Amino acid sequence: MRKPVIFGLLFCFCGLMAFAETWTVQSVPNTRLQDAGSHTSNPDGLIDAQSQTEIDRILAQTQNNLTADIFVVALQSTGDVPTKQFATELFNEWHIGHAEKDNGLLILMVEDQGLVTIEPGYGMEGVLPDAICMRIIQKNIVPLMREGKYGEGLLAGVQAVVKVISDPKAAEEIKADMQTEKAAEQARLKAKWGNILMVYLLLSILVLIFSSYGSSKKIKALGDQEPYSAYKALSTSKGGYGFLAVIFPLTMIFFYVWYNRKLRKYRRMPRLCPDCGKPLNLMTEKQEDVYLSTGQQAEEMVGSIDYDAWVCLECGHRLFLSYAKSFTNYKTCPNCGFKTFAQESDKILLAPTPLSCGEGVKIYSCANCHHELRKRYTIPMVVVVPMNSGRGGFGGGGLGGGGSFGGGMSGGGGATGGWR
Ligand SMILES: [Zn+2]
Ligand SMILES: [Zn+2]
Repeated sequence: MRKPVIFGLLFCFCGLMAFAETWTVQSVPNTRLQDAGSHTSNPDGLIDAQSQTEIDRILAQTQNNLTADIFVVALQSTGDVPTKQFATELFNEWHIGHAEKDNGLLILMVEDQGLVTIEPGYGMEGVLPDAICMRIIQKNIVPLMREGKYGEGLLAGVQAVVKVISDPKAAEEIKADMQTEKAAEQARLKAKWGNILMVYLLLSILVLIFSSYGSSKKIKALGDQEPYSAYKALSTSKGGYGFLAVIFPLTMIFFYVWYNRKLRKYRRMPRLCPDCGKPLNLMTEKQEDVYLSTGQQAEEMVGSIDYDAWVCLECGHRLFLSYAKSFTNYKTCPNCGFKTFAQESDKILLAPTPLSCGEGVKIYSCANCHHELRKRYTIPMVVVVPMNSGRGGFGGGGLGGGGSFGGGMSGGGGATGGWR
């Protein structure tokens, strides 16, 4: 009695749009109630007459010969109910297959979801494992579905399923076929990575050539410049190659070895005394301590600055050249002015809780004058992440247990695939 009202309402909502019913497990016409030999339910006319006749013929034959009960259902829409879930529920609602053997199988397509699912009963899962079902969907059914040939797609699926259940060799063939394709896919992937590696190696070589060429040009441009300022100029431009070192670490190791050699050449270049013109002598690390202040010695000790001491043995002229290290934690000490000031420790005085901030202290000290600085800082409150954040994954396996044991039951196995 309610139907005309629903029809009227839906008609108003849909307006001029083509009308399509949203099927429920209860409303899908069970054609077998009228015709015991039926193997298809096609209420929206998605399967063409010729294919439907052929499907019914093959499946009647299969039922006679193998007792396997296969049913094909093609629906325009199941609303929000996922194809897979609908198939499991419909399977259990209709009790497809024989109760003792549980050898039923349902193939369901839902047009508006663009999905088709193969739902085998418990007794069928051995012959038709999920991987085989998926294979049949993707290889036999989906290509025809893409062309809108729903009837032919389902017919092809039925033929493939019947072939597998009537001949165990067919399943073996499909498995072998899958193995070959998997191997081919792996080979393709390997070749792809091989190509990527080749391109990378080629790029690495190009990068090495270009960066060496660029630096050589720079060195040439420096010409006869005073070696200390030449060193400084070259040393600052070294940093520009840092990003390349991140992408091409191996290549850039070669480059940096070469670069550092060039830098050392400038550092060790013979120098003349500005007072008497005689060559200056470079002191060894041990000798130079006599000439360096305690602050400078401390800097050398912590490795923040390296000093070269050049001394004229003729007139006693002294030349000190400093070379700052690029990577050092040491900063200039606010007390003595030497680069010997660094963080010594970081202590948590009060741990943070979800309700209150914490407090910590960082202690800095100078390796030269032992000046000490304590910096207190606040630690933010602990953020508690709720346990159940977000919804679970999409879809999921169908629920098998329907409670009715009058006929075949689906265990929720099988496979689902789409053509959109
Ligand atoms: Zn001199
Ligand atoms: Zn100091």
